Amino acid sequence: MIPNPESRIPPKTYHIWTIGCQMNEADSRHLASQFEALGFVETPRAIDADIAVLNTCVVRQQPEDKAVRKLTDLGGVKNKRPGMIIALMGCMVGKREAEELAERFPFVDVFTAPSQTDVLVETILQHDAYKHLSKAQVELADYRLPAVNREKAVTAFVPVTLGCSHVCSYCVIPHRRGPDRSRLPDEVLDEVRALAAQGIKEVNLLGQIVDRYGFDLEEGINLAWLLKEVAKVDGILRIRFLTSHPAYMDEELIQTVAETDKVCPYIEIPFQAGSDRILESMRRGYTQQEYRDIISNIRKHMPDASITTDVIVGYPTETEEDFMETMKLAEELRIDMFHIAKYSPRPRTLSAKMKDDVTPDEKEDRRIRLDELITKINAEKSAELLGETVEVLVEEFQEKKNRWRGRTPHNKLVFFESDADCLGQLVNVKINWTGPFSLIGSVA
Ligand code: SAH
Repeated sequence: MIPNPESRIPPKTYHIWTIGCQMNEADSRHLASQFEALGFVETPRAIDADIAVLNTCVVRQQPEDKAVRKLTDLGGVKNKRPGMIIALMGCMVGKREAEELAERFPFVDVFTAPSQTDVLVETILQHDAYKHLSKAQVELADYRLPAVNREKAVTAFVPVTLGCSHVCSYCVIPHRRGPDRSRLPDEVLDEVRALAAQGIKEVNLLGQIVDRYGFDLEEGINLAWLLKEVAKVDGILRIRFLTSHPAYMDEELIQTVAETDKVCPYIEIPFQAGSDRILESMRRGYTQQEYRDIISNIRKHMPDASITTDVIVGYPTETEEDFMETMKLAEELRIDMFHIAKYSPRPRTLSAKMKDDVTPDEKEDRRIRLDELITKINAEKSAELLGETVEVLVEEFQEKKNRWRGRTPHNKLVFFESDADCLGQLVNVKINWTGPFSLIGSVA
């Protein structure tokens, strides 16, 4: 977007560092668009920027530590360059954390909770560096617009449900993102239309529990309805949604996914653990058998549906037998993709009161065993595609390898060579090599 020359605020350079989930990526993209609308210019390194933003994740200790290191470094830079603005956003900043953080990191100018990019921009514009600007100048620079597709991306993330109200025992997200609420359908659909107009071909509708969409809206408005509405938007070729919770994966939703061409047969539905005892302690609200039934039902409607799950290994009190239940379930259900996390105690969660009694070595051992199993299952499933033709939505040209990269509706990564400009196109590719996590083929 070209900023209105009348409104041009003296150019500043910005850098946004992002870690964590797709929701954070969506927020960072949106914030970048807002900065661009104000006439700011992106710079590749945070330490050189006039405005450095860290968009943080605290779901486990590791990403939090990374952000703290990054922030501490920036504190050092600011000592030498006091005019610099440092903003901390994302899940490090919850309602209750702001004060404590301000004490711990006095050099931070702005603390912003997840998804509050408008607030972040407004606060920055009140900073000393912008004091000389007239109100009119600021008002003219309308930055409250949908994200702009500057990178010429093919796929985009669109948050639809914000926050989370479940109290999974281990999870800090509800404490940081607040209770769940649905974005209004018009807002979501306007954003999807704007993205389509800018060349986006695939949208991923996001929520901590995305299948709860609409619970707080009018009767009849739910995720199934939204998927059908998004499917009506011209230019959008594919739709995905994540993350689903087993408790809300109902018949209507499964049928809609099965019957709506643009909606990919791809479902991210974490089971977290195989053992009923652990599931209960996690407060997930379902048993192993109930999870199995949901997967069966999905596969009844879509026999080849691709299922992705998250698993936590080494939750407090998890025994070898409990872990084997996770292994057995993974093997039996032949899940397509796993995100495995080693349990990490998080502040103010229920499980943080339990003793973290699975040793780091045991956690690592379980992670490796599960990872090996998944690699094996994936290699077998991929091998079934050898010689088959798959439809690939092309996302990127990899200069170094001189090949195109894209995904099948089932979200399998595919590489192929072609002299044609395939970016953003649906291309039929015949698979002639398969590995556990990617496929290589040639244009069919
Ligand atoms: N809302 C989604 C995803 C939440 S966060 C859901 O309910 O499933 C993404 C993943 O991080 C979770 O699915 C879980 O596997 C992992 N995770 C969350 N808290 C964790 C913790 N304290 N330790 C380790 N992994 C955790």
